[in-house]
Amino acid sequence: MASVAFIGLGNMGLPMAANLVKAGHAVTGFDVSEANLAAAGAAGIARAASAADAVAAAEAVVTMLPAGPHVRGVYLGEAGVIARTRPGTLLIDSSTIDVETARAVADVAAQAGHDMVDAPVSGGTGGAAAGTLTFMVGGPGTAFDRARPILEAMGKTIVHAGGPGTGQAAKICNNMILGISMIAVGEAFALADKLGLERQKLFDISSKSSGQCWSLTSYCPVPGPVPTSPANRDYQAGFTADMMLKDLKLSQQAAAAVGASTPLGAQAAALYQIFSASGRGDLDFSGIIKMLKGL
Ligand code: NAD
Repeated sequence: MASVAFIGLGNMGLPMAANLVKAGHAVTGFDVSEANLAAAGAAGIARAASAADAVAAAEAVVTMLPAGPHVRGVYLGEAGVIARTRPGTLLIDSSTIDVETARAVADVAAQAGHDMVDAPVSGGTGGAAAGTLTFMVGGPGTAFDRARPILEAMGKTIVHAGGPGTGQAAKICNNMILGISMIAVGEAFALADKLGLERQKLFDISSKSSGQCWSLTSYCPVPGPVPTSPANRDYQAGFTADMMLKDLKLSQQAAAAVGASTPLGAQAAALYQIFSASGRGDLDFSGIIKMLKGL
C-alpha cells in the first residue's frame, strides 16, 4: 500500500480519497476549503497545511481540481507539487482540463524525473462514492502501469488512452457526444409532445430503434421512462449544465487549436451557454429540455 497525497477534496475528490483510505493507502489531503478539509478528517484522511506539505513524503499524488489554471497553480512554480516531491513520484491529475495544460504540466513533470498521467473520470459523484469510476488515462506506459493499482481503488474501468493529454482528449470527445446527444433527445421529446405522441411510446420505440443512445435509455430527459434519471427529481444534478458547458468549451478550444470542424459541438456549447445564462446552470444538464420546449 502506498503513501498518497490527495489535493482537491471537493464533490469528487473527497469520496475518491476516502476510497483510497478504505483500500488501505495512507492518504494525506489538502484543500483550500477549511470545510472540505474538516470533512476529509472525518473520512480518515490526514490533514496537511499546504499542497507542498501534503506531497513532501508521498509516493503518489492525486489531484482533483476545478480547471486548468488550478492545475498549473498547484503543480508548477517553486511551491508547486513538481518542485516539492521527491524525484520519481507518481503524479495523477484526475481533473477535467484542457489538453494543452495537461501536456505542458506533464512535460515539466517528466523533465523533473516524475511519472505523470492525466486521468480524468466519468461516472459522477455517485461513481466516485461507489468506487466505480471510469478513468481515461494519458501518459507513458510505465506511468500507466504504476498508476493502475491506485486508480483501481477508485474506479472499475481503467483505460490507457495513449500518450500525455490523450486522457483529456478522450474525456472532452466523449462529453461532446453526450452534450450533443442530450440536446438531440430533448428536441425529439419536445417535437413528439407537439405531434401528440406520448413520451413513453417514443421511449419504447426509440430505445429499440436506431435512435437508441445513453442519453435516451440511461438518462432520459423526461420524467417516467427511466425512474433513476434526474428528470424525475426536477432536474436536480447529477452532472450540472455548467459542468457540461465547461466540457463543451474545452472541446471547442481543442478543436480550434488543431483545426478540427465540430459544428454540432459548437452549437451544443452555444445552447448550454444560453441555458446557463438564464440562471439554470446548477440544474442537471438534461434540464436543457426545459429550454428546448420553450424555444
Ligand atoms: P469541486 O469544486 O467540488 O472540487 C474542487 C476542489 O478543489 C474544491 O474543494 C476546491 O476548494 C479545491 N481547490 C481549488 N483550488 C485548489 C488549490 N489551489 N489547492 C487545493 N485545493 C483546491 O469540483 P468537483 O465536482 O469535485 O470536480 C473536480 C473535477 O472533476 C473538475 O475538473 C470536474 O470537471 C471533474 N468532474 C466532475 C464530475 C462531477 O460530477 N462533479 C464528474 C466528472 C468530472
